[in-house]
Amino acid sequence: MEGALTARDRVGIQDFVLLDETTEAAFLSNLKKRFSKDLIYTYIGTLLVSVNPYKELDIYNKKQMEVYMGVNFFELPPHIYALADNAYQTMLTEYNNHFILISGESGAGKTEASKKILQYYAVTCPSTTLLNTVRDKMLMSNPVLEAFGNAKTLKNDNSSRFGKYMDIQFDSQGDAVGGHILNYLLEKSRVVHQNHGERNFHIFYQLVEGGEDDLLHELGLEKDAQHYNYLTQGECAIVSSINDRNDWKTVKNALQIINIDEINTNHLFGIVASVLHLGNVQFDSDSKGHALLNNNTELRWVSNLLGVDAQSLQEGLTYRKIEARTDQVLSPFTIDHAIYARDALAKAIYGQTFTWLVNRINESMENKDPSRKTVIGLLDIYGFEVFYVNSFEQFCINYCNEKLQQLFIQLTLKAEQEEYEAEDIEWEPVQFFNNKIICDLVEERHRGIISILDEECLRPGDATDLTFLERLEDKMGNHPHFLICQSKNAIVRECFATVDPDSRRRPETVATQFKSSLLKLTEILMAKEAWYIRCLKSNESKQPGQFDEALIRHQVKYLGLMEHLRVRRAGFAYRRKYDVFLKRYKPLCPATWPHWRGVPADGVEVLVQHLGYLPYEYKMGRTKIFIRHPRTLYATEDAYEKC
Ligand code: ADP
Ligand code: MG
Repeated sequence: MEGALTARDRVGIQDFVLLDETTEAAFLSNLKKRFSKDLIYTYIGTLLVSVNPYKELDIYNKKQMEVYMGVNFFELPPHIYALADNAYQTMLTEYNNHFILISGESGAGKTEASKKILQYYAVTCPSTTLLNTVRDKMLMSNPVLEAFGNAKTLKNDNSSRFGKYMDIQFDSQGDAVGGHILNYLLEKSRVVHQNHGERNFHIFYQLVEGGEDDLLHELGLEKDAQHYNYLTQGECAIVSSINDRNDWKTVKNALQIINIDEINTNHLFGIVASVLHLGNVQFDSDSKGHALLNNNTELRWVSNLLGVDAQSLQEGLTYRKIEARTDQVLSPFTIDHAIYARDALAKAIYGQTFTWLVNRINESMENKDPSRKTVIGLLDIYGFEVFYVNSFEQFCINYCNEKLQQLFIQLTLKAEQEEYEAEDIEWEPVQFFNNKIICDLVEERHRGIISILDEECLRPGDATDLTFLERLEDKMGNHPHFLICQSKNAIVRECFATVDPDSRRRPETVATQFKSSLLKLTEILMAKEAWYIRCLKSNESKQPGQFDEALIRHQVKYLGLMEHLRVRRAGFAYRRKYDVFLKRYKPLCPATWPHWRGVPADGVEVLVQHLGYLPYEYKMGRTKIFIRHPRTLYATEDAYEKC
């Protein structure tokens, strides 16, 4: 009998805080019920849980945006627009800074979520004509960064291979007036190596597949990805879900919008092409086992496109420069070393170019108005990754996630405590797992893994894989520079200009750099009000409608959702502003219906007395009613549905 079903039966519970029991089973069952109805969003208080539907849902459009604009958070079904709007409204009324942390594993929907938020602001914020261009730039930064920083992986056809934090700056009218991006740890190794079933960064295929004949001719490129060693290792250059030719057009257009002029655009594609040529540079070995270039054509293209001297380039790839007391000695490479040198150069060039692009995007989005502004930051950061063999990159990624989890726990508890204090309600402490010990394990001075790694890298002699690779990268990072600083390609020159080739100072290791950039990020975030989106991957095969329970249970666990739920429910599960509560439930009491003439708090008191709430079941705060157990609210909600 459909009529007898409550809304809870039909579509599940919209806020996990109101779940009857806080077991994992109950949590999953509610999530599954909602997913089967295409309801991919559910709250835990103000945290948004999202399950990737792997199909287009008709819930992202201007009409829907308008529905959510300025509406109270809990009045409508859960939606990412509601969260975006709530952060925005709070920013405007309280004049403070916010950030939205989007987390989840690869393919869970983080990047899509961040794009939806950006679109929401682009469409709904008031506009004062001229400033529209800033919005266009913010929106168009996406296709450019995705072309250079995303790739097809086994887990996601459009996987972001870098972490991204973007500030959107608003003026006091709420207009988006500027933006700024910080990028983290681009997976440079992908430039030279891809696993089976994976691709290099999109831009390479876009250029080769979509580039105009004239352009390809100028760059010395074949119109065929199969021709390039750096593009064929994964054996999947063509992907059905990706249209490289269309994307090429989008990226070219986007580059114009973010103010990259024709000359720089040409330099940029010259660099992309040079990497492809570099990958085709091959070596032979002479009778002494020393590496020799086996063909000069590709090398000449590289030297041409980068605007560097071919002879020095060749030396850089086949010899190591050893600094003796007064002069330099060239020591020949073996083939393996030469290949490392070549790949290290390709990675360095690509990595620096990516940073250059981010800087240019930042310049173009820069807010020129010095008056005070508030920001909403969007953090789209790679989730935990566990593979059979875990590389240095997984180490950094997982460390980053531990760090963010720690921040999350700190901020959640802090926010709870602050709310209780603000509302004059006694705080009841909660037990939770503090992963600080894990972070310490990684980052503690002298004793942490990173410190040990650094020392290991400093030690001469017995090199392991990692120390060897790292040292080589440090070396190569320096080695080709004295070529490259004089480059005729303006981007290359600019990228490498800051590196002093004569500097004897040992550069920081990648791990140490990453650690300090994470500490900086934590500082940025600590000063802001936090909002969370937790994205869950519904299944591994990217299929619509499939709810893989084991996979989702696993994610619910490591994302700490149950812990968060427990923190939110400790003490009082449910809380609402008096006016909101009264507005909804006033039909349930003759004294409050149709109008309550006094202050809302008194109306709520009368209402809950009438409904028979017992004293220990609720507390009256300064601006909100707090209800201890969801069951109390269920009864009210059921009565409301009947009336
Ligand atoms: P992540 O950034 O977490 O690795 P993405 O945001 O790139 O994952 O999402 C992976 C893919 O999943 C997208 O390319 C898209 O096909 C699908 N997807 C993600 N979120 C949604 C959504 N809200 N609606 C429809 N499809 C989605
Ligand atoms: Mg992503």
